[in-house]
Amino acid sequence: MQDCLFCKIIAGSVPSKKVYEDEHVYAFYDIAPNAPVHVLVIPKLHIASADEVDFGNSEYVARIFEAIPNIAKLAGIVNGYRIISNCGEDASQTVKHLHFHILGGKVMKEKLV
Ligand code: AMP
Ligand code: ZN
Repeated sequence: MQDCLFCKIIAGSVPSKKVYEDEHVYAFYDIAPNAPVHVLVIPKLHIASADEVDFGNSEYVARIFEAIPNIAKLAGIVNGYRIISNCGEDASQTVKHLHFHILGGKVMKEKLV
């Protein structure tokens, strides 16, 4: 997608601090971290949000979750992490390319659910 920030990051035309990459998955540090470790994990296919996941693209989501344990280790997370995906307007999703926030490096007492 031409106008998608995260597609540009995957293509390398927008710089990022890479944590991990494979055929389906790209992971990089969030530019405005909300925890001592804050990594974004994205599919290397433009999927707008979790609401757009279907039979034809769900392999990318599976690959993301298979990679997350290794991504957390590579980012230095040792004691657990939180995974968040904001989906759509009411969830205040700002970048319309599916992404999973991996937050760690501190005890997160505050919980939404
Ligand atoms: P969301 O609000 O769930 O859509 O999350 C979008 C995330 O992308 C936010 O946490 C931003 O800080 C992050 N972000 C925006 N632009 C960049 C960028 N160029 N590099 C890394 N992270 C970014
Ligand atoms: Zn995209």
